[in-house]
Amino acid sequence: MSQNVHTFTPDKLTLMKKYYHDFLDNNPKGALFRARTPHAVITAYNSGKVLFQGANPDIEINKWIKQSNVEDSAIQNENLNKVLVSSHIGSDESGTGDYFGPVTAAAVYITKPQIDALKKLGIQDSKLIKDDVILLLSKKIVEMKIPYSLLVLHNEKYNQLQRSGWSQGKMKAMLHHHVINNVIQKTTPQSYAGIVIDQFCLPNVYKKYLASENEYVHPKTHFMTKAEHHSVAVATASVIARASFLKEMDALSSSSGYTLLKGASNKVDHLIAKIIQDNGKAYLDKIAKVHFANTEKANKFL
Ligand code: MG
Repeated sequence: MSQNVHTFTPDKLTLMKKYYHDFLDNNPKGALFRARTPHAVITAYNSGKVLFQGANPDIEINKWIKQSNVEDSAIQNENLNKVLVSSHIGSDESGTGDYFGPVTAAAVYITKPQIDALKKLGIQDSKLIKDDVILLLSKKIVEMKIPYSLLVLHNEKYNQLQRSGWSQGKMKAMLHHHVINNVIQKTTPQSYAGIVIDQFCLPNVYKKYLASENEYVHPKTHFMTKAEHHSVAVATASVIARASFLKEMDALSSSSGYTLLKGASNKVDHLIAKIIQDNGKAYLDKIAKVHFANTEKANKFL
């Protein structure tokens, strides 16, 4: 004989009591109801706790646990689908996989009528758009007066945070959070159906990062993988973030005197070695994410 305790919402308890109507037994003291089925004895309390005892409690438990998960995700999907076709906020970042250059993050607020206009403009996942087109599109987005916020985490600050124990994930989470905050502040009191974040880590991990800085996730936030394919706001944010990254890379190339490469390939390792030979290793702190394995790999070319 085994027993299990699970907690349910008051609505769910009401539903359960109805469901077990024909199996109701005498209530023990303090219980909301007790039901005796061929599989288990089920005792529910006002606290929401429900005790499943007997020969096969799992048969009864599964009716409620599985069902509630399915219902929850169905409700969430339905909400998210509504958000994607309504006025909403979206955020994305760029530069996290590139050895050279900053991390940039953007959030935008788009209204329902702007969704079609942006689609017609050709706004989509920035990874699918060529660099020169990205710069053109970002100009057009600005001309449309789409409210947005853009943050650039420059290399020196990035490296400092990284040395102090921040993971890149935490940096991304805080960047997303701040650009979203800025956009909400800029656009209040205009309403939005929800916030869509292009998911780069599990929602719980994101929440943990924010909590470690005494910040909390806004209500109506949705995390979505490949969100730039589904949310025009996220796609727009991805274009703004990418355009900013490209401009920053151009500026860094000019100021450093090297044509800095994007990405983190072997070619990057060779370039790092050249830069170290010319300027010393400390110089990398100003132009690169020095904790990347590339820094180590460049040693073999020195
Ligand atoms: Mg992204």
